[in-house]
Amino acid sequence: MTVAASNAVSIRENGQREVFCGLTSIVWLHRRMPDAFFLVVGSRTCAHLIQSAAGVMIFAEPRFGTAILGERDLAGLADANEELDRLVAQLLARRPEIRTLFLVGSCPSEVIKLDLAKAAERLNRQHSGRVMVLNYSGSGIETTFTQGEDGALQALIPLMPGTEESQLLIVGTLADAVEDRLVGLFQKLGIERVASLPPRRSTELPAVGPGTRLLLAQPFLSGTARALVDRGAELIRAPYPFGVEGSRAWMAAAAAAFGLAPERVAEVLDPLVERGRRALAPQREVLAGKRLFLLPDSQLEIPLARFLSLECGMELVEVGTPYLDRQLMAEELALLPAGTRLSEGQHVDNQLERVRAARPDLVLCGLGLANPLEAEGMATKWSIELVFSPIHGIDQAGDLAELFARPLRRRGALAFG
Ligand code: SF4
Repeated sequence: MTVAASNAVSIRENGQREVFCGLTSIVWLHRRMPDAFFLVVGSRTCAHLIQSAAGVMIFAEPRFGTAILGERDLAGLADANEELDRLVAQLLARRPEIRTLFLVGSCPSEVIKLDLAKAAERLNRQHSGRVMVLNYSGSGIETTFTQGEDGALQALIPLMPGTEESQLLIVGTLADAVEDRLVGLFQKLGIERVASLPPRRSTELPAVGPGTRLLLAQPFLSGTARALVDRGAELIRAPYPFGVEGSRAWMAAAAAAFGLAPERVAEVLDPLVERGRRALAPQREVLAGKRLFLLPDSQLEIPLARFLSLECGMELVEVGTPYLDRQLMAEELALLPAGTRLSEGQHVDNQLERVRAARPDLVLCGLGLANPLEAEGMATKWSIELVFSPIHGIDQAGDLAELFARPLRRRGALAFG
């Protein structure tokens, strides 16, 4: 499908940004792969961010930590490398269950040019057979927080075995229960072999090769998709699985790629679609006609805007996205209402001026902007919450709409209270 260029008016902005960095993705990745450990090589700021983002996890045996670069490390790379080796040896001695160790780069490690790829090679030699050491960057320089997952998955791809067998590969972290449901539905449709990246155990990586058809569950995995295509996989082009219609189209695109009859798809999915539409109806009553401004944060903005306008009747004032991968977003862009104002990148002051001028009913934004906007009388929704919530699939459409209806209901209650 080609991009309906007339559908989207692009504004490109470059200025101060208000987004979390890629370290944040450790919060959902470490839950997905409990046998992996994420070691951030960074500063005390990085340690604070990850501990407060992951909240209570520090009370359990955590599956992430920070190798803190002190002043001495910042002055000399030799010290930093030695310190890192010592820390990793200690960690592995204490935690025999760790099978995969991700060294996660940060702004400070990038600024001092600490080569974590080399460090991973060295540590792999030292701990060969005991643990696999990988590296990726979660730095906030020029990235947004969901790109952390893109980096982590790309680090896993070289380790994936090859295969020529026909299979569906779902790519992107899903809640386990949602994944089970979707895999069950694909199998009911007639797709026998369904694998997932990331897997639930870091050592049980799926295979990839010319028989693999790859279906993205998250829209922010550009680098991962390209690397898998380089390994022979074929990308299934589809909207993303948000909302009843988006999820149905996503599953139908996979079924078509496997040559399954549309009648079979209708037979399996139509009862779910009916139920999903019924679940949406009460939320639609709250959302229809309300004006929505989406500020760039998670890279989920375009599929969410499509869902909220087409299925919930919201009016889109502006749809912001940190980065626009036109190839991976083509099907979504084609579904946006004609004339939608689309902005790429961020210049936070300019965007806030446009928000204030438009006075939308609801603003989707990062945590840092939500409080000031609420104080100015606007209802907000935190975009990071959508990355942590189980929102994929037809069955979740009602819950997804509810996440947007709730702040409007609350503000309505306050106004009449
Ligand atoms: S990686 Fe950079 S942006 Fe993220 S917490 Fe560390 S210093 Fe801050």
